[in-house]
Amino acid sequence: MRVLSNFFENNRNWANRIKKQDPDFFSKLSKQQNPEYLWIGCSDSRVPASEIVDMMPGEIFVHRNIANLVIHTDLNCLSVIQYAVEVLKVKHIIVSGHYGCGGVKAALGNQEHGLIDNWLRNIKDIYRHNQQEIDEIEDEKAKVDRLCEMNVIAQVANVCHTTIVQNAWKSGQQLAVHGWIYSIDDGIIRDLDVCITNPDEIAQTHRIK
Ligand code: ZN
Repeated sequence: MRVLSNFFENNRNWANRIKKQDPDFFSKLSKQQNPEYLWIGCSDSRVPASEIVDMMPGEIFVHRNIANLVIHTDLNCLSVIQYAVEVLKVKHIIVSGHYGCGGVKAALGNQEHGLIDNWLRNIKDIYRHNQQEIDEIEDEKAKVDRLCEMNVIAQVANVCHTTIVQNAWKSGQQLAVHGWIYSIDDGIIRDLDVCITNPDEIAQTHRIK
């Protein structure tokens, strides 16, 4: 109970496997991290960032929370974005949602879930703004999936509305913000084709001069 021995055993086996492929892997990695990508995804255990894009440690800087939200008062997420953009100088920020997201499903309903309802309210607002389109979808699963897509699109906009991203663009830094969605059913990521690379592509109300 106090020691999860299988974790340590798995860890040693994993480290040995990597060292066999590349004996200098960990010594090189410990000297610096130089990822080109920031991944903002859902905490769901079925969507581990580096694994689903088959990348090695050191390649992706990751932030995960329930339903991959980027909230302008969330110091945790904003600090990750700031560090990724200003210090690591990532070239891409990827907001990746996933179909069938439990957080999105909960936001569509009216049941009380406790503290988390305050977090999910952000998705409820997206639902309210797009209620007609969502309510016209009859299939419950399709309804959730469409709101999952809308949520990703809204979070891509939220990333771009931060002063961090806008100041990076202002200083000439190359930075693209992408919106993707992953399907747990087939393991495939789909590009929602909402990539934003400069302030002219965001709402005028949120553009900082
Ligand atoms: Zn989720």
